[in-house]
Amino acid sequence: MTLVGTVGRDAWTRQALCAGHPDRGAWFPENPQDAKRAKAVCRACPVSAECLAFALKTGQSEGIWGGTTPYERRRMRRAGLAAAPAAPLPSN
Ligand code: SF4
Repeated sequence: MTLVGTVGRDAWTRQALCAGHPDRGAWFPENPQDAKRAKAVCRACPVSAECLAFALKTGQSEGIWGGTTPYERRRMRRAGLAAAPAAPLPSN
């Protein structure tokens, strides 16, 4: 997760559950289990919609953002969902 560089820029980042999380490497998953751990935290995060909207708007191509992988975000953009950031998060 790349929020380390964005904390303080947007108010929502102050509520990010991943900021300072002891398992931060999970947001840059090297295997499906890492991604599952990060996504589980994202599902409970109060700013997941804002996070996903930011990632889609800025074209984040690395890491887990708003409970989505880069592959999932590419699919969302192709489906035209970048303009609808409040879409439900993927369940896994
Ligand atoms: S949704 Fe996930 S990646 Fe985004 S701020 Fe929350 S915990 Fe971090």
